[in-house]
Amino acid sequence: MLLEDRVAFVTGGGSGIGRAGALALAAEGALVVVTDRDPDRARAVAEEIARTGGQAEARALDVSDAAALTAEIASGAARHGRLDILHSHAGIQIPGRLEEVSPEQMDASWTLNVRSHFVAARAAMPVMKAQGKGSIIITSSNSGVQYDREMIAYATTKHAVIAMTRQKAVDYARHNVRCNALCPGFVDTPFNDGFESQMGGRRALEDYVARAIPMGRWGTPEEIAQGIVFLASDRSAFMTGHALVIDGAECL
Ligand code: NAD
Repeated sequence: MLLEDRVAFVTGGGSGIGRAGALALAAEGALVVVTDRDPDRARAVAEEIARTGGQAEARALDVSDAAALTAEIASGAARHGRLDILHSHAGIQIPGRLEEVSPEQMDASWTLNVRSHFVAARAAMPVMKAQGKGSIIITSSNSGVQYDREMIAYATTKHAVIAMTRQKAVDYARHNVRCNALCPGFVDTPFNDGFESQMGGRRALEDYVARAIPMGRWGTPEEIAQGIVFLASDRSAFMTGHALVIDGAECL
């Protein structure tokens, strides 16, 4: 197994890509602290991991609460004696062009898509530095490497978090703490409900996916989870400051 004796901390791990990543990390031997704003979802994923013989614990955590996020990461590391992998995943998508997005909605996007990743990495870094090793995976999006239509808050914050990830990568490379961004394309999870409405319904969204993505389909959470395991493990030991795009060539 690739991640035996490692401890992972996942935010937004109760559904979709975060859930699939948590299951995949646990399947490779990691003990996974599954956190989510919705405690029932976090618990369900931790129970699913336990049922398949893995190790996990569930914690309720809203990443917009900086003090709670910092405290959860510190206490998780203290309880389990180490912290090897941080997958900072929770995010928000507010659709709209410049004149349609309010400053408050822009602030909300910034809080989830940039600030929470800053806070999480800031809490994990001292532990990883002291260990002389760690992998921080920040979920951006392929919207961080391309420009969507009518998505100013999302595209701006997802670009910004890649810049922040690269800056951290340079600053902490000597400590062997690797910082990489995960950039999924379309994955069929509840996260796209807002975009579905913006497109005019499910049928229009399916047509869009078939047309706009060169591979002609959605990615699956499990396909993205393979990227998470790769970035978490020593398979990517010399990779830091990278934005790993997994999107069926949509951004090309
Ligand atoms: P999802 O809707 O399946 O799951 C999101 C989970 O995050 C839910 O369990 C929800 O309860 C939790 N959550 C929401 N707000 C939270 C908060 N403030 N604190 C803690 N937990 C919170 O979504 P998903 O598909 O896993 O996508 C989520 C992340 O992946 C986002 O960062 C998003 O930008 C990114 N992403 C998704 C797609 C996609 O197509 N699904 C593509 C690119 C990037």
